[in-house]
Amino acid sequence: MDPSDGDNVSGCDPRVRPHLVCPRCRSELDDVPGALVCRACHRRYPVVDGTPWMTLEDSAPLDDRAAAGSMDPSGDVR
Ligand SMILES: [Zn+2]
Repeated sequence: MDPSDGDNVSGCDPRVRPHLVCPRCRSELDDVPGALVCRACHRRYPVVDGTPWMTLEDSAPLDDRAAAGSMDPSGDVR
């Protein structure tokens, strides 16, 4: 249908896709089906309804979480 679909494997909104970089290390992102993957740190950001979820919550705990001591800031699971 939309000719841009061919380059849009991640499903990310093509209007915002060029502006996106990894929020964790500022590197470029690769498109994979249903997600964006950082080329440098290989973190995966799921795309839901065209919107990439660029959250750092699962990788870099916020201050309140770090204070709780429940997560290792250097943990790189997933
Ligand atoms: Zn990265």
